[in-house]
Amino acid sequence: MKASEYILPTTKEDPTDAVVSSHKLMVRAGFVRKSSAGLYNYLPLGFRVLKKIEQIIREEMNKAGALEFVLPILTDANLWKQSGRWEKMGKEMFRLKDRHENEFALGPTHEEAFADVLKPILKSYKDLPKNVYQIHTKFRDEIRPRFGVIRSREFIMKDAYSFHIDSKSLDETYELMRLTYRKIFQRCGLKTIPVQADSGNMGGSGSEEFMVISPIGEETLTLCKNCGYSGNVEKTPLVWDFAPNVLEKSDLEKVYTPNLESIEDIAKFFNISTSQTIKAVLLKADEKWNVVVFLRGDRELNDVKLNNFLGTSLIRPLSSQECESLGIVAGYCGPFKESKKEIKVLFDSSIDANNAYVVGANEKNYHFKGFVPSIELGSQINYRDFSKAKTGDPCPNCGSSLYEEKGIEVGHIFKLGDKYTKAFDIKVLDEKGRQVLLTMGCYGIGLNRTMATVIEQSNDSNGIIWPISIAPFEVCLVSITKNFHEKEKIESIYNYLIQNGIELLWDDRDLGPGFKLKDSELIGFPIRLTFGKNFFEKNEFSILNRKTMQEISYPYTGNEDLINKILEIKEKLFRELVD
Ligand code: ATP
Ligand code: MG
Repeated sequence: MKASEYILPTTKEDPTDAVVSSHKLMVRAGFVRKSSAGLYNYLPLGFRVLKKIEQIIREEMNKAGALEFVLPILTDANLWKQSGRWEKMGKEMFRLKDRHENEFALGPTHEEAFADVLKPILKSYKDLPKNVYQIHTKFRDEIRPRFGVIRSREFIMKDAYSFHIDSKSLDETYELMRLTYRKIFQRCGLKTIPVQADSGNMGGSGSEEFMVISPIGEETLTLCKNCGYSGNVEKTPLVWDFAPNVLEKSDLEKVYTPNLESIEDIAKFFNISTSQTIKAVLLKADEKWNVVVFLRGDRELNDVKLNNFLGTSLIRPLSSQECESLGIVAGYCGPFKESKKEIKVLFDSSIDANNAYVVGANEKNYHFKGFVPSIELGSQINYRDFSKAKTGDPCPNCGSSLYEEKGIEVGHIFKLGDKYTKAFDIKVLDEKGRQVLLTMGCYGIGLNRTMATVIEQSNDSNGIIWPISIAPFEVCLVSITKNFHEKEKIESIYNYLIQNGIELLWDDRDLGPGFKLKDSELIGFPIRLTFGKNFFEKNEFSILNRKTMQEISYPYTGNEDLINKILEIKEKLFRELVD
């Protein structure tokens, strides 16, 4: 391909709406252009990268025995109603009506659609297991589309769904997908770590997210250097190991604490750390329950853990009027036993029942000092895990200290269980001729997000550094010529390389050398050949390794040697991906 005939609209300036490197570089290097909020046009360079990622995913999925489908993006509302997600999906789902007033959605995911296709096809245990997938466009009306294609409203996903006779078979496919994802990301040159994730209310029993560690990540991960544990903070369980220091008696004292409403103020006033206080978090869950969670003062509530425990999905703080009508003195609410019917009282396991704390006295302007939960509330209280893990907390695996990192989710594997097979009544006959309800798994990868995260992970001040496997072109040939005769000579080299299968973009544009060299580094071709003054004067050319920025000059000894040199570097770069 000749640059003079291609579209390379590179720019020096960052787009004004871009805040992250990948977004800036994808626009500046001419891979994408914004269409409108959360919608992007892919230009030829960007399209080539997407197609390469798609091909890697397809090859690895096929190797794992998955079968490729393509389903309509437009999905019938009745499918969503059957699973109960027509309501649940809320505003994130794009909805529309046809001319006959029939309702549809632009698929944000395809569990229902695949369940519906597979149901009449799967008849016997002999038809199982099956893993089916597509690589297709998804629509999600994200509240905040941002970071360019990382969180967009239209994107391409590889979504796979597996069907099984029992959980053992599901476990096997889940494990195979786990390994397949590792291979896919490795081949894309992307370093990911699988973390245990929350399965939410989906009824599933396992879920792992493939995360790319990045300061711009919207997810928080908890990691352990000692044993390698990695979890999404939403999921990371906390187990506290308290010394058995049973206090025989409590010196409970009521203290006048006017206008001290924050935990920090109280700790300061009593000259203690916030971990020696107990605070109350007052909430409304799914608009049906009033809930108070007592946590140690230094802990933060983990909404996901609470929702999972309550079986709810939405929580919000109680308003001051709501607190008042429940007889709660906001700012001075201290531990009490569940007695009133209209409020659920929960205690977090970070509280050591045998320790003395400063707590609200349930009376304006007063706190208690020396409040020992086991003495004041008795031993019947259940302390459960509701707090969010943070740096320094004990690893759930080995007890060492956890540390936090930010991460971007690029893939997700999930044991769905029977949620959809139940809703769609997907059963087959087992060996004994009995009808058995199937169990399912689902496995997603965002292609556009993968492309952007590779750039997040792999760029420098000059531009993008593509892993060779997904580079728009493996090789860029920059020629610096003075006349038609010189250009003709380069053209014959270009033709030879192309005819011999080198994936090459020749920058034959009538532009200055500085401009062309800068462009090639911005776009990020892994291998750059430069044929300029030295070639015509000294019979030398140079090769730049974009990753190391090491440029080496070689004598030109014919096209065959040139090809061998290119292939040698290319193979080395491919090897580096899997080493
Ligand atoms: P997130 O938590 O980031 O919103 P999700 O949990 O909703 O993602 P899944 O439903 O698991 O995502 O979708 C599978 C994959 O699709 C994700 O791992 C991600 O790579 C991709 N993806 C999801 N939402 C978007 C989006 N708005 N833009 C681009 N890619 C996305
Ligand atoms: Mg997810």
